[in-house]
Order: sequence, then structure tokens, then C-alpha cells
Amino acid sequence: EGRETRLRVVLRVRPLTCTETRRGDQEVVHSLGDGAIHVSAARHDATFGFSAVFDAGASQEAVFEGSGMRQLVELAIDGFSCTVFAFGQTGSGKTYTLMGPLAQSETQPALLGLMQRSFTCLLEQSRSRGTDLALSASYLEIYNEQVRDLLSPGPPCALPLRWSKTRGFYVENQLSVEFESLEAIVSLLLQGSQRRRTSAHALNRHSSRSHALLTIHIRSRAHHPPTRVLQASACPSKQGTLCFVDLAGSERVKETGSSGELSVEANSINRSLLALGHCISLLAKPRGKRTHIPYRDSKLTRLLARSLGSSGITLMVACISPSSRCLSETLSTLHYASQARRVTTKP
Ligand code: ADP
Ligand code: MG
Repeated sequence: EGRETRLRVVLRVRPLTCTETRRGDQEVVHSLGDGAIHVSAARHDATFGFSAVFDAGASQEAVFEGSGMRQLVELAIDGFSCTVFAFGQTGSGKTYTLMGPLAQSETQPALLGLMQRSFTCLLEQSRSRGTDLALSASYLEIYNEQVRDLLSPGPPCALPLRWSKTRGFYVENQLSVEFESLEAIVSLLLQGSQRRRTSAHALNRHSSRSHALLTIHIRSRAHHPPTRVLQASACPSKQGTLCFVDLAGSERVKETGSSGELSVEANSINRSLLALGHCISLLAKPRGKRTHIPYRDSKLTRLLARSLGSSGITLMVACISPSSRCLSETLSTLHYASQARRVTTKP
């Protein structure tokens, strides 16, 4: 608490997809062990280091256990603001890492992603610690620079994003739904995800066209014997959050075959990712040399301001494809992810 803490950055390399294998794509990314990853292709030869690297063979469970996600859940229960975000090109495995293939999640629990595993962990912890946890969830998307509520019924409407001295940036009137069981929170996740804007284009048939942020609000009160009435100050309540951010992928408009509405989407996705990259680059400088961080450049960076720059604890899961065809996007993801390792916050 109060000490400078580095962003934790882990890398996941997905397996080649069927299409890539059929096409005969070469794998240009190789894990060297100990968090090192090597990229070798015609004119590129580079090694990068991360807190952990998960290669194509890594299971969803291995990613959960090896990424530090469990500790993040515990810190959120302890009252910290915790964020995990998946970062990488469209089709690199961000949604898969966070949620797994939602359609198969009931029949194949091994494929459940970081989110469902965290929910389970959270509910287990709340039972075993003997604390009284009040849990609620909100789920938002940023689509074409508009913040929309994914949980409130009816057609999506834009919510205002405001700033106050005490709360920092926050979304006004967002719905927060209480839950007590795993079934309830998983069903909120499913409902919300179905309402997210996706559209089919060449790179990924179900590509997300929006950034989605699911936040779990955790309020805990220490249990005390019913016979002794303690003063409120003797058992302070803690309020933590656990936020999952599924970013829409960066993409080159020309490569995705996007036009019209799709290219407007792609441009606003790219613009906000650019703003995110810019903030990360500036935050990666030593504290004394930092200049003003332009969080206000996009809705995404405003909503991530606390996680990245002030009092949050953040885990970044950078996702890449091993294919030679994705080389330039992969190098760019690796570059940003390496920079992000130098970002510090003061939880
Ligand atoms: P993104 O969200 O980054 O656009 P997705 O998570 O939708 O990418 O993944 C793209 C495709 O690759 C999907 O068909 C997904 O099922 C598959 N995929 C991604 N990661 C893995 C993995 N680790 N193992 C198996 N398939 C994966
Ligand atoms: Mg996705």
C-alpha cells in the first residue's frame, strides 16, 4: 500500500488457427522459458521478457494460475482497485483468454477464461474468509467513443463520463447489479456479452467492435460476534473493485476489408488504442520525468486512468498470434507490452 508497484505484464501466444495451418503459415514466435520470448523472421530477430509467457500449449487454468490473477482477486477483496486487461491485435486471443469460448463453456469447463475462474475464486474466498461480502457488477462497452451500459434493458443509450476530485473519472447512471452466486454473475456476463457490438470481417468472424469493461464491486465488512456491538469505526468496511477489460483489437483498415460503418468503427477503435499506447509510453518514463498524461484523449484512457496511472493494481495480458502473417502487429504488441512493464502505480 502506498508503495510504487509495477504493472504486471504477461504474454500469451495462441496456437495457429485451422485457417492459418491450412494456409501453411510459419510460426515465428518461440518461447525460450523463464518469461523470454523470441521472434525470428526474415529481417527480424528479437527477444522480449515478461513476468510470464504462456505458449500455444498452455491451458486456461495454467494462465489463471500463472498470471497472478488469483492474487489480484485477493487484493480486490482487500479493498484495492484491480484491473486486468487483454491487449493485442484482433484475433490474437483476448476474448478467449478472458472468457473462453462462451458457447462451449457449459460443456467444457476446462475452457473457461480468466473471468469465470476469478468469479469462482472470489466467491470461494468470500466464503472461506468468513467476511461478509456485498458483490455487485457493472458492465459497459465503449463503442464509437460512446459509453453504453450492457446490463440495462432496452436499446443501448450513451452514458455521460464525468470527473470528480474524489472519484476520478466515472460513468454516471451506470447500472450495478447485485449477485451472490456464480450462476448469477455468469449469466450477467453472458447477457452483457450478447449485447456487445460485434461484426464479421475478414480477420475474425466474431470480432469485438467495442471495448468492454466488466467491473465487480466488492464491499466487505468484518464479521463480529452478534453479542458484542462494535462501533462502526472498529470494523471498517473496505471497498475494492475488480475490473476486466476486453479491448477491441487494433487493426489495419485495409487488411480487414472494412468499409463504410466498419471503417468508422475501426478508426475509432484505432484512435482509442493509439491514445492508450501514448499514455502507456508517457507513463513508462520515470516519475520525475513524466509530463502531463493525456487521459482525456479518449473514453478508454479516461476509464483506465486509475488502473494505469494512480492507485490501481494492474495485470496486462498481451496476446499474440504466432503466425508470420501477423509479424508487424505482433512486434507492435510486444513493444507496447514491454513498455508497459515500466509503468508504476501507487496502490
Ligand atoms: P480477439 O478477442 O483477440 O479478437 P479471439 O479471442 O476471438 O481474439 O480469438 C480468435 C480465435 O482464435 C477464436 O476462434 C478463438 O477461439 C481462437 N483462440 C484464441 N486463443 C486460443 C487458444 N489459446 N487456444 C485455442 N484457440 C484459441
Ligand atoms: Mg475479442
